[in-house]
Amino acid sequence: MAREDYYKLLGVERGASQDEIKKAYRRLARKYHPDVNPGDKSAEEKFKQIQEAFEVLGDAKKREVYDRYGTYSDNIPNATPGSGGFGFGGFDFGGFGSGSFGDIFSELFGSSRRANASANTTSPSPNFSDNPNLQKGTDIEYSMSISFEQAVQGFTSSINLNRDEICGRCNGNGDLGGALQNCNRCEGTGKVVTQTGKLQFKTPCSDCQGTGKRRLACNVCNGKATVPKTEAVKIRIPAGVDSGSRVRVPNKGNAGKMGGLAGDLYIITNVGEHPYFTRKGDNVYCSIPVTVPEAAIGAKIEVPTISGKAVLRIPPGTQSGQKFRLREKGVPSLRGNICGDQYVEVRIVLPKIISEDTKSILKEYARLNPENPRTEMGLE
Ligand SMILES: [Zn+2]
Ligand SMILES: [Zn+2]
Repeated sequence: MAREDYYKLLGVERGASQDEIKKAYRRLARKYHPDVNPGDKSAEEKFKQIQEAFEVLGDAKKREVYDRYGTYSDNIPNATPGSGGFGFGGFDFGGFGSGSFGDIFSELFGSSRRANASANTTSPSPNFSDNPNLQKGTDIEYSMSISFEQAVQGFTSSINLNRDEICGRCNGNGDLGGALQNCNRCEGTGKVVTQTGKLQFKTPCSDCQGTGKRRLACNVCNGKATVPKTEAVKIRIPAGVDSGSRVRVPNKGNAGKMGGLAGDLYIITNVGEHPYFTRKGDNVYCSIPVTVPEAAIGAKIEVPTISGKAVLRIPPGTQSGQKFRLREKGVPSLRGNICGDQYVEVRIVLPKIISEDTKSILKEYARLNPENPRTEMGLE
């Protein structure tokens, strides 16, 4: 999918100043915020694109890279869909680093705080309209063991998920309004020191968004703006997932803060084994025992497939180890409306009990077919 030009997305000239970019972003973010457009998928998509564009153009260094190469990547692992999961759930636009928006917003709007402290309401719907300090919620990864059949057929289920939900007391703002005072964490400086190896960095304090000031923290969430909650979440695992597939459930990650969007939930599937099927990608493999007469004379036999029984014609003279393909009897592809194939390997088995009658028939058989299958190896 070709990405839209970031400048076009923000509606600014290529030579626009950082200030013009910030202004354009702020205007568009307000217009397309999902909570101003409830249920409007295209607005949500637009909102994410605008965020993505601003993530790059709003940062002078990233913008320089973008201007030179026409693209910019933070190389965050979450942004890469898993092998089996590609094509399902879409590209994860939200994956570029949880909290990164918090940083931008703190740089950008550090000195401003939401204009009207309307947080004293206990309504569960957050005041999303215009809060400049919003932080996107983090994604959650949830490992799930599923059976071979479940992976092949897909299923819906409900999981009990521990996630951070918006605090109902402060509506996800972390405080209940009131007078500003020095932030406890950064002692009013707006910066905290973080250490990476021998290097020390000063980064904006996330508690106060770099302002150094906070209102008295909400007594329910202790200023975190979110509260932990166990929630039953409905999930749909599509037919065709494999071990390591990442199935995205939008907006079921941790709640955002100050009106930020929730992160996404990723179900990472771990597929169990089957007693006689194995799987490689969308193809299914099994080995099937056939008797000596079936292999020698030919036969129509029933074979199992993942969607029920099928009939396989064994041609006369079939050898042990020979493989037959059953077209489109494999696993439905996540990439579209196609199926893999099933490969059946024939394994010739001798009669379990060799009776005297069978022995004499086999002797007769040997007399009629005096062949030595080892002559090719130079053996008598
Ligand atoms: Zn602080
Ligand atoms: Zn709270």
